[in-house]
Amino acid sequence: MKVAVVGTGYVGLVAGACFADSGNDVICVDNDAAKVRALTTGRIPIYEPGLMEMVTRTLHTGRLAVTTDLRKALRRSEIVFLAVGTPPKADGSADLAGVFAVAESIARAMDGHKIIVMKSTVPVGTADIIRARMKKLTKHPFDVVSNPEFLKEGAALDDFLKPERVIVGAASAKAAETIAELYAPFVRTGASILVMDNRSAEMSKYAANGMLAARISFMNEVANICERVGANVHHVRRAVGLDSRIGPRFLFPGAGYGGSCFPKDVQALAAIARAHGYVARLAESIEAVNDRQKRVLADKIRTHYGNALKGRTFALWGLAFKPQTDDMREAPSIVTVNELLKAGARIRAYDPVARATARKVFGTKISYSSSAYNVLKGSDALVLLTEWNEFRNPDFDRIAALLKRPVIFDGRNQYVPDEMRARGFTYYSIGRRPVHAV
Ligand code: NAD
Repeated sequence: MKVAVVGTGYVGLVAGACFADSGNDVICVDNDAAKVRALTTGRIPIYEPGLMEMVTRTLHTGRLAVTTDLRKALRRSEIVFLAVGTPPKADGSADLAGVFAVAESIARAMDGHKIIVMKSTVPVGTADIIRARMKKLTKHPFDVVSNPEFLKEGAALDDFLKPERVIVGAASAKAAETIAELYAPFVRTGASILVMDNRSAEMSKYAANGMLAARISFMNEVANICERVGANVHHVRRAVGLDSRIGPRFLFPGAGYGGSCFPKDVQALAAIARAHGYVARLAESIEAVNDRQKRVLADKIRTHYGNALKGRTFALWGLAFKPQTDDMREAPSIVTVNELLKAGARIRAYDPVARATARKVFGTKISYSSSAYNVLKGSDALVLLTEWNEFRNPDFDRIAALLKRPVIFDGRNQYVPDEMRARGFTYYSIGRRPVHAV
């Protein structure tokens, strides 16, 4: 099939490359000329495992092309995916300016029937609004299909190629069938393609992210209560997760969730409800709990040092909002770093891939190193914020030798408190009693 994908970010580029790799003719469009230039020479502006290889391969075979020219892309495509960003506005609602601008440009440039597929996460009712706006601008027939994306950054290719389900929201059975056919190579192992109306499809995305975020926020609250009552959240998490009605995933407490999706989508869910005269109390609380959780580690650090952080230096392991990505949107590291800087501390940070992103966020307010151990030298303590694999089994003797004092603040519960005490560390984590070096 001939497919255009507008927006070549984490979602659009992955979708474009995967559709191309499965035999379609794909043209990716972005209005960021520098990004398009980089892509045409095989340079990928984001870190996503396996993506570089797939983009290079599909560009080479000619199955994938990249352009800034939407009109050109449209002329040679029957299906047009929209995967531009839908960032939050100040009131939490989704900013649809990019989505509407692209939809209207498509309407003006159309030369025949097109299926417009909304892959961006958009509020319920957006497909209807797009339909109405486009109708005013074109005489050509078109369909608007809602096809929310569920991939996870860091495992995006695998998720796209082996989805657990594909949601197709459409008013036309024929359009739904065409999109289902496009996805057929990815659902051979039995995953379901769920065809429904546009509004239910749009709502499914917010419900899924809201549910996942709720699990995390709930466990973070359980962890905070555990700390106060002397329980260990590690045991509680396992006890809860082995109940088959609950299941073990997304129950890990930590320094809060981040990323481009959970915070934004939970806020948008609450905003959608408000716009329809309903106060979604739970959705509002999920975000409020997470905002507070992002400060928990800085609070522990301030308390440990009796609020005297001026002149202290902290070594930070992990800047990305989660492992396997360079994405720092809404990352807990941003809150922790800003809190520590505000208190007069200095930060030396290490992240395996997010250094360039971090420079855009913090500039020269913190220093960076390409070595996990270099940042420790002469620092007062280690602060762990992203659970990269390489932090799982570090050389603890080396850490202790390099730090001024063997103190670790762990926002991702990577180590076992009793073992840390035995190794001579003062160790703070989430939802478990701190242990102090003897
Ligand atoms: P992104 O910011 O990484 O990419 C968006 C891209 O769109 C950018 O390259 C930008 O230059 C381009 N763009 C913006 N306006 C444009 C325009 N008018 N014309 C052409 N290109 C334009 O965003 P993303 O993370 O890929 O997210 C895209 C959408 O998918 C969002 O709605 C998001 O909520 C949703 N989503 C994201 C993820 C994820 O993990 N990142 C997962 C599921 C769904």
